[in-house]
Amino acid sequence: MKVIFDAAQRRHYPGFFLTSGARAPNPETPARADILLEAARAAGLTPEVPPDLGLAPAASIHTPEYLAFLEGIFARWQRIEGASEEVIPNIHPDRRGGAYPLSAVGQAGYHMTDTSCPIGAETYAAALRSAHAAAHAAHRVMEGESAAYALCRPPGHHAFKDLAGGFCYLNNAAIAAQTLRASTPRVAVLDIDVHHGNGTQGVFYDRADVLTVSLHADPTRFYPFFWGHGDERGEGPGLGYNFNLPLPRKTGDEGFLAALDRALSRIAVFCPGALVVALGLDAYEGDPFAGLSVSTPGFRRIGAKIGEFGLPTVLVQEGGYVCNGLGGNLIAFLDGFGATHRVAADTER
Ligand SMILES: [Zn+2]
Repeated sequence: MKVIFDAAQRRHYPGFFLTSGARAPNPETPARADILLEAARAAGLTPEVPPDLGLAPAASIHTPEYLAFLEGIFARWQRIEGASEEVIPNIHPDRRGGAYPLSAVGQAGYHMTDTSCPIGAETYAAALRSAHAAAHAAHRVMEGESAAYALCRPPGHHAFKDLAGGFCYLNNAAIAAQTLRASTPRVAVLDIDVHHGNGTQGVFYDRADVLTVSLHADPTRFYPFFWGHGDERGEGPGLGYNFNLPLPRKTGDEGFLAALDRALSRIAVFCPGALVVALGLDAYEGDPFAGLSVSTPGFRRIGAKIGEFGLPTVLVQEGGYVCNGLGGNLIAFLDGFGATHRVAADTER
């Protein structure tokens, strides 16, 4: 299996975020990518740099208005006297109407759901390369590889069509799913990050061709709070094509694996031609976000269960923050996945 990554993805280096109102170092650091890349190599994956795919992957999901904002906002922000170095919103419109502000501050509020997605000089370029990694991994799978791992950083699953949020700017998992749609009529996205994949849900909420399923810590007391509840099932033609499995805080391996069984059963009856796994590793018991309590051996079992499914699969990196277990958890997941995924693919042939 290949690990798709470009060093330019390291250049986004957000300074801080607000947690419970307090300024704290932003945990979505380039060091994450270094640890994950080393772990992927240790698991036997071959590194590959994605080609420059331009704007097409991002434009397949995100609005032109939003992409223009991401492209230009850092330079515009620098022209505001006394402004912060990074773009951070200080207004959060509820139920945005039709009016679109011309001001940089107004647009930052319009396009950013929270303060944890600051935009620096290199953010847009790094996010584009992260999206290229996802799209290229999908291309590899469409060309016949049974699976590929996109080391997407910055991550993507909290980004909507026109909204950044939660360390995310471009929705890499959605981009992978949309890319795969060119080769198969139905694609499933399985999000196992500790946080609900609200952006991915939002992108496909009214669509029946992409099933979105998310396992995550119950949002009644956990980010992203306003999405991820069990009664969010999709709308319009997409009604019944979104499945949320909120889990009690500190749920461990057995509870997580039982929920994963439910998720995979739902995906099985959707009969997809390909699978995207939004691979957060922050459900780990030692992750700084402390939402769930999956162990390192638990990630191996999770990988094995997903591998047994035997679908062409794009693994897209989401969360998982610097802690002692981060690299080991990726190795465990990939080992478990690789062991069973080959078997399932062989059986199918
Ligand atoms: Zn997360």
